[in-house]
Amino acid sequence: MIERLCIIGTGLIGGSLARALRAADYCREVVGCSRNPEHLQQAVELGVIDRYETDPARAVEGADMVLVAVPLGAMEPVFRMLRGHLPAGAAITDVGSAKASVIEAARRGFGELPAAFVPGHPIAGTEQSGVAASFPELFRDRRVILTPVEQTSAEATARVRAMWEAAGAVVDEMDPAHHDTVLAATSHLPHVLAFALVDSLTRLGESDEIFRYAAGGFRDFTRIASSDPVMWRDICLANGDAILQMIDRFSGDLQQLADAVRQHDGETLQTVFASAKQTRDRYVDKHT
Ligand code: NAP
Repeated sequence: MIERLCIIGTGLIGGSLARALRAADYCREVVGCSRNPEHLQQAVELGVIDRYETDPARAVEGADMVLVAVPLGAMEPVFRMLRGHLPAGAAITDVGSAKASVIEAARRGFGELPAAFVPGHPIAGTEQSGVAASFPELFRDRRVILTPVEQTSAEATARVRAMWEAAGAVVDEMDPAHHDTVLAATSHLPHVLAFALVDSLTRLGESDEIFRYAAGGFRDFTRIASSDPVMWRDICLANGDAILQMIDRFSGDLQQLADAVRQHDGETLQTVFASAKQTRDRYVDKHT
């Protein structure tokens, strides 16, 4: 049970966790914090938070759990504002989509990595942003990856784990670098491809006509290109090395498919498509 939860970044992810924990009766009070008081007032009116502050140092006063759910590029400035203000006994965690960079941001922002800081990442989201898009079921049966490091206290990790489990999530632990490699493959590369495809088609010249005839396949493949551009800019900058490795690897595979098309090599095309279909049918649908 959390007495006072402080959520810095009361948007889709922060707002959804607040809603889930309230629904589970797992926290007594939620204090929100972000830059824009209008967003925070909206969060109060939606019943997501009880009250708010725009200064992170004031927002965390008396909190026993702090969740930082701002875009990756805002993590270090927020940690810097919290330096010297974390209440004794509070656990602090984040939801950033890349982990090595957030750990580095915490080290720089706080001066040294606090034992109470438990890096985390919920593998759940939508292409929407903002508190109005938040909903309490977002994390139900979804994975949350915690990436504690040597300095992280086991007690803080256990409390953060219990919080996510109360929100309905299944919690795993992973080394931060391994997390970044896995997520580059499963999330970051697909987003880069969706953005790139839509942008490329937009610049074909006849894009109005192309999008008029775009049907289900196009819609399915490109849904995630409606995601927040700032968030995805930050993810690409924060996890650049792992994403570049995946782009290089994928470019090679795409080139092989192009060669097969050029050579009318139907056997290769069918083999690749059949293997992809088998993999997707086996893994993806089972986990959604
Ligand atoms: P979001 O809906 O846009 O929410 C971001 C929140 O951060 C807003 O409340 C915003 O409010 C606040 N904010 C932005 N800059 C800030 C700053 N400098 N100081 C204080 N508050 C600030 O974004 P989101 O989708 O929840 O993503 C938040 C984090 O979750 C990101 O780190 C992202 O990598 C991670 N994540 C996202 C997803 C996803 O699918 N969306 C999934 C997993 C993890 P103001 O504008 O009022 O400041």
